[in-house]
Amino acid sequence: KAFSRVNLNEQLDATLIMTQSEVKGRIEVVRVYDPQLPLVECNIGEINQVFMNMIMNAIQAIREKGTITVTTQQLPGERKVRVEIADTGPGIPSELQHLIFDPFFTTKEVGKGTGLGLAISATIVEKHQGTITVESGEGQGARFIIVLPTTQPPT
Ligand code: ADP
Ligand code: MG
Repeated sequence: KAFSRVNLNEQLDATLIMTQSEVKGRIEVVRVYDPQLPLVECNIGEINQVFMNMIMNAIQAIREKGTITVTTQQLPGERKVRVEIADTGPGIPSELQHLIFDPFFTTKEVGKGTGLGLAISATIVEKHQGTITVESGEGQGARFIIVLPTTQPPT
């Protein structure tokens, strides 16, 4: 069965381990995890694909040195889990923010980006009854927020 109950902190850690060689000491990764994070019913492979897309985008956005902050929390009083992946890269100009989830939209050089990462991620998150949004001011880095439902009642 494709769906199982998953601790997203563990899946984020697995993705961060896989991207360690890309980070190569130039990027500091800060994890702010909710230790009581409720489990999420999801397709692990698909959710990891989303996390991998977000973290690789953050790594590629940080040209030289910077920080990626991964935060998880249970939304207070709600049956929802929030994952935030924030970077200190150049950010996304507001006039482009509505385009970045479109298939084939990329600002990367030919051969470097397919422009599919965020489109696929949005499809996967929506299939899980969740939402994916971006907050960014130019020069303030980008902040991607994924909210997913949990079956567990709020603690
Ligand atoms: P790709 O990575 O192949 O370009 P994506 O769908 O993953 O495709 O991203 C689309 C575009 O969104 C990127 O080309 C870039 O312009 C923008 N983008 C995504 N993540 C970030 C980020 N963390 N910082 C700045 N820009 C971003
Ligand atoms: Mg990408």
